[in-house]
Formats: sequence, C-alpha cells, structure tokens
Amino acid sequence: MLEQLVLLDDRANALQGGDSGILIRSSARAKRLTLKVVPPYQLELVVPRGTRPKVVAEFLRSNFDWIRRTTDELVARYPPGLRLLPTSVELRAIDARWSVDIAVNDKAQPRLRDHDDILSLRIQTASGPEGFELLRQWLLRRGRKHLRPWLAAEAQRLGVAPKHIQIRTQRTRWGSCSQRGSISLNAALLLLPATLVRYLLVHELCHLRHLNHSRRYWRLVAQHEPDYLELDRRLAAAWTEIPVWALPR
Ligand SMILES: [Zn+2]
Repeated sequence: MLEQLVLLDDRANALQGGDSGILIRSSARAKRLTLKVVPPYQLELVVPRGTRPKVVAEFLRSNFDWIRRTTDELVARYPPGLRLLPTSVELRAIDARWSVDIAVNDKAQPRLRDHDDILSLRIQTASGPEGFELLRQWLLRRGRKHLRPWLAAEAQRLGVAPKHIQIRTQRTRWGSCSQRGSISLNAALLLLPATLVRYLLVHELCHLRHLNHSRRYWRLVAQHEPDYLELDRRLAAAWTEIPVWALPR
C-alpha cells in the first residue's frame, strides 16, 4: 500500500518548501529502512511495518545530507514543471501504450520523436507547458492516422458518406456533425476504450441522416449500437479521464 505522508523531519521539509516529496511506503516484507530513487524522479522511503515514528524520524535525520544532495540532483535533472509530464501514454482505443522519455534541454529546439516500433516517445524540452503542447500535437497526428480510417470504415458499414473529416483537440466535444455533412472528431478519443469511440463514430454518422436528437435519430443509432444509452452516459463521464495535456489551452 502506498501512502503519501508528510515527512517528519522539519529540515528535510524545508527542501521543497514544506512538502518533502518523499513517498513513504510501508512494507510487511522489508527488513530495514531504505531510502531510494524510484525512476525517474521519485524519492521513496521503505518502512518495515511496525517501525516506530521516532525511529523513522531519526533515520531521515541521519540521511539528511544524502536526501538534500539527491533532491538537488533530481530537481536539476527534472525541473518541477516537467514532472507534470506523463511517464507513459496509453491510447486505449488502439490498445497501445507509449513510454515517455524526457530530455531536459533549454538550448536545443523543443521536439518530440515518436519511435512507434518500440512505442517510445522522446521529448526534448525545457518546460512543462512546452512538453504538453508537443504531446497534444502528437495526439493530433495519431488522431488523423487512426480516427480517419476508422470513421471511413464505420461510414461504409452504415452506408453513409461524410463530406469532410476533421480531427482536432477540443475541450467540450468528442465530435460533431455539421449541416454540410462534415464530421469533426476529438483526437482525445484515442485515450478512451474502443467501444466508446465506436459509439461516438456511430453517433456522428447517424447525424448525417438526422441532424437532431429526435426519436427517429435514436432509433437509427439503436440499430447500429443497441447499448447506446449506456455508452452515451459513459462517454459523457469520460472527460475526467483526459489528462490536461490532451486539451487545447
Ligand atoms: Zn448528437
């Protein structure tokens, strides 16, 4: 069980302005107190179950120099702003998870490289917001790559043809269908389970027949997706699963 506890040592607390950032993990198996770095930048203290708080405090005090040195190194290597960047990104819709490696560099041009053969993203940046933007642009490219052909295949299945397909990142909509028959999809859909994405595609494609939410419209949706009520509810609730970097600022 993981618990985020406030560090007992006042001096160590001062390291990061009140919150030491040390994750304290209580362990039934550990034989002794251990301080370590869990990659990429988490300081962790393993505490054998039943250890008295006084002993823990004393241990931290005696390791104060190591904690300070290590914290300084980690802050230099991973500035706090960059720690908001994810260490991995899962595109659930296509069942793939990319690891994210961050190289801090304020001299070179920020960039993101997608090594999709090994599902690895390498980000070179000097700030969190810049890294967020690189990830959002990556998601857009992925959206175009995966959502366009997916929508085209569903359209064929339903026997309709959108005039135009647009992939964007949006804060408030998963997708939309215009009077002109143009369908717009949110690239962040890729972060959701495939069943939800498929439902959204069916939902928008059915608007090509009925540009409203009338009974006739929902009857058509039900023909292609009998579970539409449940899926619609889940999709509306899915915004909470979307990380901030996937949304436009
Ligand atoms: Zn609708």
